[in-house]
Amino acid sequence: MFNPKKFKSKKACVLGAGKSGQAVFELLKQKKFNVVLKNTEDDVLGYDFYIKSPGISFNNAVIKKIVAQKKPIFSELEVGLAFAPNGINIIAITGTNGKTTTTELTSKIFKQHIKDKKLKNSVFTCGNIGFPVSSFATKIKKGDFLVLELSSYQLEDSTYFKPTVSALLNITNDHVFHHGSFSKYIKAKCKIFGNQNKSDFLIINQRDVLVKKLTARAKPKILHFAMPKKLTPPKIKGGHNLQNAMASYQMANAMGISISSIQKAFDNFKGVEHRIEEFAKINDITFINDSKATNVDSTITALKTFCKKENKNIFLILGGKDKGDSYKPLKKYIDASIKKVLVIGNAEKEIVRDLKITNKLVLSKTMEEAVNFAFKTAKKGDIVLLSPACSSFDCYKNFEIRGKDFKQLVKKLSS
Ligand code: ADP
Repeated sequence: MFNPKKFKSKKACVLGAGKSGQAVFELLKQKKFNVVLKNTEDDVLGYDFYIKSPGISFNNAVIKKIVAQKKPIFSELEVGLAFAPNGINIIAITGTNGKTTTTELTSKIFKQHIKDKKLKNSVFTCGNIGFPVSSFATKIKKGDFLVLELSSYQLEDSTYFKPTVSALLNITNDHVFHHGSFSKYIKAKCKIFGNQNKSDFLIINQRDVLVKKLTARAKPKILHFAMPKKLTPPKIKGGHNLQNAMASYQMANAMGISISSIQKAFDNFKGVEHRIEEFAKINDITFINDSKATNVDSTITALKTFCKKENKNIFLILGGKDKGDSYKPLKKYIDASIKKVLVIGNAEKEIVRDLKITNKLVLSKTMEEAVNFAFKTAKKGDIVLLSPACSSFDCYKNFEIRGKDFKQLVKKLSS
């Protein structure tokens, strides 16, 4: 365990200068540690302990050397939490898909609870959502709520992390390249409840066969996805979002939050940008930005939300940087409801290979070409959906920039 007192006199090295690396470096500097911030290409051997940024894989040659030297490696999450007081409420959310939406919604509920009860506590929404725990650590007070979105990368790096309430939303194949195998990815995800005890809560979807099996012997009290009839769910599209709302409800329920606070938060929740975001309706054509759909499963989720059996009315913009997943599972939805698939980015070869439906594929190369084609061809009642099933890194720095580019191109064409 990272004990600040024990490690204060030791030489620390933060590996990776991304958001979380910088945040934990600043925190340790502020706490007067002897700390450096380095990349794995630098000379990093010879330090007493390390804090690894989540993006760096344990398969990295430098990390392997550090492990061989038996030097402690901590996660940014655990170091950050070590500076927070005892008696805080940690609500942690993971899953292959739905993390950000569920984290945002849960955080809204806790904020509403604090407002309604006139409490002096704060809610910190942090973790993988873009705000590292380390950047808040010194501000957290006893009784505060931390609503944490956690990726498999962050969980893999953590050994002692123990939330009060955890949610394991779902597990499907993703990030295998980083972890080395699907079973290692699963193992990382399961760390969310691994240290919880009988007085803690774990929220799961009882219909998810894999998650049910993995949690069968878990120690915390298990609450299944559910919601009382008297609650009206948030007005955001898709069965998956109802599941996310049920998970949020159960997290709030576990902490004793009132139905009326939950309802107010649900009523005010408009969804999250880049997740099945209906942002424009032009000439009765609906434009949807689902740039965050960075794997095949999340694109299927979007297609399930919009596919109508009686109507082939979707122009799907698909592609980006290939992650090695098969695109074949998309085929039945494409056959059923898609007018054209506009293929963009580097994954073109793999998409063509897996989908084998040349009559529907339009090789567009760029987002602009895809948007232009859709704009010219779509008719009243059609949907233009960016749900790429790939990461964005072939053409964009991140999925947010990809989504904004899509929205801007649509806006430009309509003006
Ligand atoms: P994450 O943070 O895990 O990537 P997000 O909330 O950002 O999840 O949603 C990303 C995409 O994943 C959404 O656009 C949607 O297509 C899909 N998705 C969201 N929630 C779920 C869910 N509960 N089950 C399956 N897919 C989901």
